[in-house]
Amino acid sequence: MAIVYLSLGGNMGDRAANLAQAIEQIEAGGVSITRLSSVYETEPVGLPDQPWFLNLVCAGETSLAPIDLLDMLQAIETEMGRVRTVRWGPRPIDVDILLYGDLILDSRRLTIPHRLMADRAFVLVPLVEIAADAVHPGLKATARELLSRIEPASGVEYWGGLTQRSLRSQR
Ligand code: ATP
Ligand code: CA
Ligand code: CA
Repeated sequence: MAIVYLSLGGNMGDRAANLAQAIEQIEAGGVSITRLSSVYETEPVGLPDQPWFLNLVCAGETSLAPIDLLDMLQAIETEMGRVRTVRWGPRPIDVDILLYGDLILDSRRLTIPHRLMADRAFVLVPLVEIAADAVHPGLKATARELLSRIEPASGVEYWGGLTQRSLRSQR
């Protein structure tokens, strides 16, 4: 079993419902979710002029190999209507693998830890909420340390929680 941290976000449609649906499907796909951060509303990064995102981070346990985990997550994205157009553009759901145990991997389809996680407040703020001491094995720094190294987290606002109800309603 590996402990994994996933980042979820989306800015199209019913954003909270999409997060809840993705969480349900990730569990069905073979990741037992152990912790779920609050939801944050975040300013688009990379490509402005699009709606703000809702983002969260979850921790889970899985016996899926990294590439199988990626396949499963991408199938969920596609099933939920993701169409790949412009990089960083609007999407109903995006799921990225942040950490996979202490694995360091750089292959054609997969870089672990996620290449940009240390730069992104919308990833680090929810990650610190659930796992401040999680270690980035490449940078040998905790999530808390990484967050302290970036600009104050402007453009990341507490939004609320995914209620049990919004999770169950997806079943
Ligand atoms: P960013 O990667 O900057 O967050 P994005 O999430 O919008 O941008 P995508 O179009 O979702 O980018 O993914 C592009 C490719 O990134 C995927 O097809 C996948 O093969 C690759 N990839 C590499 N490392 C990871 C990772 N850790 N998690 C998810 N996808 C990854
Ligand atoms: Ca992403
Ligand atoms: Ca992605």
